[in-house]
Amino acid sequence: MNNGYVKSPDAALRFALFGDPVAQSLSPLMHSAAYAKMGLAATYTAYRVKDAADVVRQVRERDIRGASITIPFKETVMALLDEVDENAAAIGAVNTIGNRDGRLVGYNTDGPGLARDLEDWIGIRGRTFVVLGAGGAARAALFTLIEQGGTAVVVNRTAERARALAGSLGCRWALPGQIGRLEADCLINTTPLGMFPDTDLTPLGEEFLVHFPRVMDMIYNPVRTRLLREAEAAGCAVRSGVGMFVHQGAEQIRLWTGREPPREWMRAKVMEKLGGCSGD
Ligand code: NAP
Repeated sequence: MNNGYVKSPDAALRFALFGDPVAQSLSPLMHSAAYAKMGLAATYTAYRVKDAADVVRQVRERDIRGASITIPFKETVMALLDEVDENAAAIGAVNTIGNRDGRLVGYNTDGPGLARDLEDWIGIRGRTFVVLGAGGAARAALFTLIEQGGTAVVVNRTAERARALAGSLGCRWALPGQIGRLEADCLINTTPLGMFPDTDLTPLGEEFLVHFPRVMDMIYNPVRTRLLREAEAAGCAVRSGVGMFVHQGAEQIRLWTGREPPREWMRAKVMEKLGGCSGD
C-alpha cells in the first residue's frame, strides 16, 4: 500500500526518534521488532538533538519518513511543521511527524494510545477519572477522556498549571492536598514520580488509594511502580503504562505505513526487555 508516506515499497524506509535524552527509550526496540515481524524493510534510529529546529532539519536531510518526538520537543516542534492535525492541535503537542514527500505533518498518538488501552480495560464513556499531573501527557489524557465521554479532575502541585489546563478543557482541578475529598473510577498518574531510576518515589499517599478502585500509571519502566504495588496491596485493579506505550507506537506505524502493526508482538518484546509481570 502507498498512502503518500511510502515512496517505493522496495526501498528501506527510515524512521526515527528525536528527543533529549533518548538513550533509555524502548521505542527503537519496539519499532524494529514490529517492522521485522511485518516483513518491512525499515530502520528506526534514536537521535539526541539540541532543539526543535534540529529535529525538522534532520528529518528532511536524512529523508526520514516518520519520526517519533519525545521530551522536550513535543510542543516546540509544532510551529516548525507544515501542518498539524486537528487532534494534535487540540492537545497542544506533537509526538509524531509524518513526512509526506517533504511536507511535514504533526500528529499526537498519546491520546489515541491511552484511549485504546483504556477501552481494552475499563472503557471511557461514563467513567470518572482523577489525573495526577498537568504536563503534556496529562493534557493528552484529559483531552481524550473528555472527548470520549469520560469525566476528569486534574490534580497538580502547581496550581496555576492545573487551573490553566482545566480551564482550557472545561474540567475541574484540585491541589494534591485536596485529593482526600475526591473519588473516581480510576486514578491515572502522569507525573514521572516512581520512574526508573527513582523507583522509591510515588505521587500518592497510600491512605488515599481506597478512593480509587482502579489505578493506572503511565510510567512503564518499571512495569510495577511503587504506586502500582501499593495500589495492588490495597486491593485496586492496576494497569501499567506498557499498553499505552505499545498502542501509541502502533498508531505511529499505522500512520506511516498504512498497515496494522503486530501489537501483541510489540508488547511481548517490550515486556521481555523490561522483565515485567503480566496482567497489564
Ligand atoms: P511533563 O510535561 O514534564 O509533566 C510532568 C508533570 O508531573 C507536571 O505537571 C509536573 O508538575 C508533575 N511533576 C513532576 N515532578 C513532580 C514532583 N516531584 N512532584 C509532583 N509533581 C511532579 O511530562 P510529560 O510529558 O507529561 O510526561 C509525564 C510522564 O508520562 C513521564 O513519566 C512519561 O514517561 C510518561 N508518559 C508515558 C507514555 C506512555 O506511552 N506510557 C506516554 C507519554 C508520557 P508541575 O506542573 O507542578 O511542574
